[in-house]
Amino acid sequence: MSSVKRRGLLFIVSGPAGSGKTTIITKLIDAGDFVFSVSATTRAPRPGEVDGVDYFFVTKEDFKDRIRRGEMLEYAQYVDNYYGTPRRAVEKQLEEGKDVLLDIEVQGALQVMQQMKDAVSILILPPNSKELEKRLRSRGTEIESVIQARLERAHLEFKYFTQYNYVVISKDNCVDEAADEIRAIKKAESLKSSRNTYIKESFFE
Ligand code: 5GP
Repeated sequence: MSSVKRRGLLFIVSGPAGSGKTTIITKLIDAGDFVFSVSATTRAPRPGEVDGVDYFFVTKEDFKDRIRRGEMLEYAQYVDNYYGTPRRAVEKQLEEGKDVLLDIEVQGALQVMQQMKDAVSILILPPNSKELEKRLRSRGTEIESVIQARLERAHLEFKYFTQYNYVVISKDNCVDEAADEIRAIKKAESLKSSRNTYIKESFFE
């Protein structure tokens, strides 16, 4: 076996609000399958959200300063707020061999795909648009104009469907199934020959 420490894999997960993405991701993080990259956002915390755990909640000025200092791996504006991935934490965790999961929307996802060619991208979708709207409304955390904006945004995300490596459908009450599909993706990706060239190099030693 090689003594070289395996670098972690980077997973980009996107999906419209109401796709069930957060529930599935929480399950995977809690089970230790991935470490979560905590994003910075200018959005106000929702009840129960904790600064530094769910997000780093920052002001617009602070966010712009971070962009200017080159601290963001990617960032995007989403329904009147900024969201972005702090670069250093992701790089450190990958170097430590941890598999890192980014929960980011499509504009940011495209930026990461450009920069990190071996990142694995997964789109989580509900079974259809009616189900999407139903789930979004049942959360009861947003006002109507925000719900409408988020639905419009979901249409935009569909434009980029084929940019993602994988698509996972999140059926009602099937969180475990969707989580298992993502675990299967992770397993297959980690077994790719291109990620395991050390085997070839050390085989006849
Ligand atoms: P929410 O306000 O519901 O927590 O998140 C809104 C959207 O922002 C979701 O689609 C989520 O994936 C995305 N998002 C969260 N963090 C980031 C980030 O760091 N960068 C980008 N580009 N999108 C993010």
